[in-house]
Amino acid sequence: MKKNVIVICIDGMANYNFENPNLKVPVLKSLMEKGIKADGMEVAYPSVTWAMNTSIITGTFPIKHGVLGNWVVDKNEKKVKEFFGDRDFSKESSIKVPTLYDIAHQNGWTTASICWPLTKGADHIDYNIPEFYEQELFEEYCTKGLWKELSDYGLPVEKYAEWSKDHARGHMQDWLSTEVAKYLIEKHKPNLMMIHYLLADSLQHDHGIGSQEALWSMNYIDERIGDLINKLKEENIYDNTDIYVISDHGFAEVEYEIRPNVLFKQHGLYIEENSQDNKVIAVSNGASGFVSILDKENHKTLLKEVKELLAQTEGVDKIYESDEFPSLGLPKSDSHHLQADLIFESKEGYFVGFKADCNSVIGKSVMKGMHGFLPQKDKLKAMFIAHGPSIKKGETIPEISLVDVAPTIAYSMGLNIPNADGKVIESIFKKIGVKL
Ligand SMILES: [Zn+2]
Repeated sequence: MKKNVIVICIDGMANYNFENPNLKVPVLKSLMEKGIKADGMEVAYPSVTWAMNTSIITGTFPIKHGVLGNWVVDKNEKKVKEFFGDRDFSKESSIKVPTLYDIAHQNGWTTASICWPLTKGADHIDYNIPEFYEQELFEEYCTKGLWKELSDYGLPVEKYAEWSKDHARGHMQDWLSTEVAKYLIEKHKPNLMMIHYLLADSLQHDHGIGSQEALWSMNYIDERIGDLINKLKEENIYDNTDIYVISDHGFAEVEYEIRPNVLFKQHGLYIEENSQDNKVIAVSNGASGFVSILDKENHKTLLKEVKELLAQTEGVDKIYESDEFPSLGLPKSDSHHLQADLIFESKEGYFVGFKADCNSVIGKSVMKGMHGFLPQKDKLKAMFIAHGPSIKKGETIPEISLVDVAPTIAYSMGLNIPNADGKVIESIFKKIGVKL
């Protein structure tokens, strides 16, 4: 009999939250006490949700898996494209390496995924509800039979998009995802299940890190994980289930927004989004700006001009050129048509906004928390907890990398992720290489 594995991602829950005495999370604390906790997890760059959840599930950096951010520019079409919300890309056409669930499925494990970024159209997920913001996409791409089963069972799946778009009702989406997971545990018992919770990210953006709303969201998700565990116990599979709780990035405070496209507009380089006459365009990946030169004939001159303009702009920290991208875990600009030509990181307290219909390059930010900074910053460190029959009890291991997650879980399943960038953290397991 194969064991069960559940991988839970709490979007944006930094490891530092566990030092906050006001954070209760009794379920997570119990999993840590009876399992393993890492002393933080370094994420990758850019530290945004679609790129990071792909790194988690493939064990590779964006240079290898190809998901270069939440937002990118297609330089051939001169258009902004969105990994965000699985809007413009599907799993099979954009992730260039095998995922944990591909390998598991090919080896006879049944697989399920709930709201995991970039799973649209995934061939190897038996029960799949991708992470969307549009109801039409949910209706079209969720596993058909499952969608009907959930609806017949009385779960309000027709509300998925509405609840995911509205932060004030975001907890309802996370509740619904939990109910879907419980249904799957009862009716289908998938061997590998992935669940992505969004609320902690949404409320930290809106209300700031350490805010009452942020703490409430983490406690709320903790309760949902408690619900899942109770369901596993009811179905008598808890003792046979390894549970991994991780996050995709941490969070830092922000106060100001840098608007690079306003800057470019003021210098005659940018007109409006998707204009074929744009010479230069930037997209935001949180605290990082990705700038593409669209006027190929004047590439060199424009690159120099843009770099100088950005260097003089308030809030801009380091600027990277193509040759430096591989050291950030990203492909060079000429090796991927979605890759930018210049990347800049904001200073602390700043992030990069999309706004272009105003005259100020710098503005006071509505958002209070952000990610997308370089992953080495302490506040960006994510969390890692492992608990279950394969896992040792009550130990803290040194900081790991988020690309270690997939190889480590695969190893516990007797599987291997070829060409992963991360390593297997063997020290968390009771018996090395032994399948249950
Ligand atoms: Zn995220």
